[in-house]
Amino acid sequence: MRTDLFINNEWRNASDGGTFPVTNPATEEVLCEVAKATDTDVDAAVQAARACFDSKEWKRLSARRRGAMLLKAGDLLEARMKEFAKLESQHNGKTFFEAKIEISMTVSSLRYYGGLADKIEGKTVPVEGPFLVYTRREPLGVVGAIVPWNFPLNLASWKFAPALAAGCTIVLKPATETPLTALLFGEVIQEAGFPPGAFNVISGGGSTAGMSLVKHPGVDKIAFTGSTEVGRVIMKEAAKSNKRISLELGGKSPNVIFADADIESAIRGAQTGIFYGKGEVCAAGSRLLVEKSVHDQVVEQLAARAAKLTPGDPLAKETRMGAVVSQSQQESVMSYVARGVEEGAKLVAGGKRAQVDGKGYFVEATVFDNVTSDMTIAREEIFGPVLSVLAFDDFDHAAQIANETVYGLAAGIWTRDIGKAHRLAQEIQAGTVWINAYNYYDTAAPFGGFKASGFGRELGSEAMDAYLETKTVWVNLV
Ligand code: NAD
Ligand code: MN
Repeated sequence: MRTDLFINNEWRNASDGGTFPVTNPATEEVLCEVAKATDTDVDAAVQAARACFDSKEWKRLSARRRGAMLLKAGDLLEARMKEFAKLESQHNGKTFFEAKIEISMTVSSLRYYGGLADKIEGKTVPVEGPFLVYTRREPLGVVGAIVPWNFPLNLASWKFAPALAAGCTIVLKPATETPLTALLFGEVIQEAGFPPGAFNVISGGGSTAGMSLVKHPGVDKIAFTGSTEVGRVIMKEAAKSNKRISLELGGKSPNVIFADADIESAIRGAQTGIFYGKGEVCAAGSRLLVEKSVHDQVVEQLAARAAKLTPGDPLAKETRMGAVVSQSQQESVMSYVARGVEEGAKLVAGGKRAQVDGKGYFVEATVFDNVTSDMTIAREEIFGPVLSVLAFDDFDHAAQIANETVYGLAAGIWTRDIGKAHRLAQEIQAGTVWINAYNYYDTAAPFGGFKASGFGRELGSEAMDAYLETKTVWVNLV
């Protein structure tokens, strides 16, 4: 385990020796104390990233060499898959089964952007007059990355892999709850041959280390994933120094089941759509819209499936429901459950805290029926294993409810009518739409939000735009 800050390819204590505890939410045990970065430490990390970015060593490194380092990092991480997956499970509470999927997605990010590094091209532009005009795609500079606790290393890699491929350098601030895999990843960076300062990790608080990074004049861009609320704070602060920003924020995604769907697979999709990752998934299908004629059947079967999804030891092979990330997250989820009941929704499964071996912050797989769009549990992101079921009459009604949200991250559509599926896919305001599927991700497929779910895209070649400037060069030919 690594518990010190990773700055300039070295492990360091916080400048004032400060630390904070990291807890295993499944056992309530303190796993370790981790260095808590001060403003001085954030400054040191930014200086290191700046010096690396401006160094000849980094500037003269060909894109192909940068790519090769990312590819090597991918191999190194793959070889340590179980170790990283176990650690991810321990600080986050997710199952080992899910943690392995997360780490293999991180390996994919490293390989995809490793391969893409030497394929970033400008263009020649046909203009009026005797000129040669061409564009260059240049790295933005020093990137500050701030990430949440739900997919700690993977969401970080969605930023640092394209950023490093672009020729940027990076200072990463992991979430307070889950700093351990990002810190350990420093070992992979060292071994893959990245020069000092290319990749730095400052564990610490959001409003302290995180905000210090956002304010730092040496940072050119902030890439943020987290809550819509904190996204707004960052946007406002970044405006003061014209920092570039990209934001991946929350969601309240509709998953729409039409009566003509393959109901069996739709129910399975609804289940994984909300309960995968304990519902702590930004794109979770947290609003299930069901056509009235199949509503009773769907709700009954889904409630039965939820009842079987009992929380267990996250490290046990067969467990499919882990602990929520922290006690405060458990409290927050439980207060939404209480709100649902108060506002008149019908609780048909779960709704209670749970423990495993008398410990841990678990929440039962919970399903609310008879939910309407004005209820809190239909409007606010719960970020836990709580599903809200809303009934609809027809296509237009489904489209209307689907868009009755400030968010626009993702959506699911279940029907055997392909025309209807594509028509609704066009109408829904969301960055990702799954048809007869839910919760699929691939490094090659762009991901990001409409509306209050943020802007900018991660994954795919689109992600490179977040880390590159376009320079236009005019050459007079006469
Ligand atoms: P959060 O916004 O509280 O924290 C995210 C990160 O920002 C953490 O590292 C935190 O320390 C830091 N932070 C907090 N306050 C800050 C501040 N004032 N200045 C700078 N940094 C600050 O979110 P969370 O509670 O950790 O995670 C849950 C939220 O993240 C949910 O709303 C979820 O939808 C969202 N999320 C979105 C995506 C996506 O891709 N769109 C992915 C995962 C999570
Ligand atoms: Mn938070």
